[in-house]
Amino acid sequence: MKSKCDIINLSNEREVDVMPKMFKVSIEGECVFCGRSWEVTVTEKEYDDLRIGDILIQEALSDHTPEERECLISGLCERCQKKFFKEF
Ligand SMILES: [Zn+2]
Repeated sequence: MKSKCDIINLSNEREVDVMPKMFKVSIEGECVFCGRSWEVTVTEKEYDDLRIGDILIQEALSDHTPEERECLISGLCERCQKKFFKEF
C-alpha cells in the first residue's frame, strides 16, 4: 500500500511540473489599401489550422475579433475595415 501511495504522489508532482506549452505566432502583414502594418497573434495550434486550411478561419480563430480575422482574410488593417464597412 505504501508503494502505491508513493506512485500516486509522484504522478501528481509530475503533473504540476509540466507547464502547458502555448507557443504564440505573430502573423504580420501590410494593409493592401493604406500600407499600414498589422499584426495578429495566434497560438501555434491556430497557426497550424490556418496553414492546413481544412477548417474555416472563423472556426480556427474563434477566440479572435472579427477585425483580426478580416486582416488575414482581406489584408485590410482594422482602420480601413471600419472605413470600408461603414461605407458599404
Ligand atoms: Zn489600412
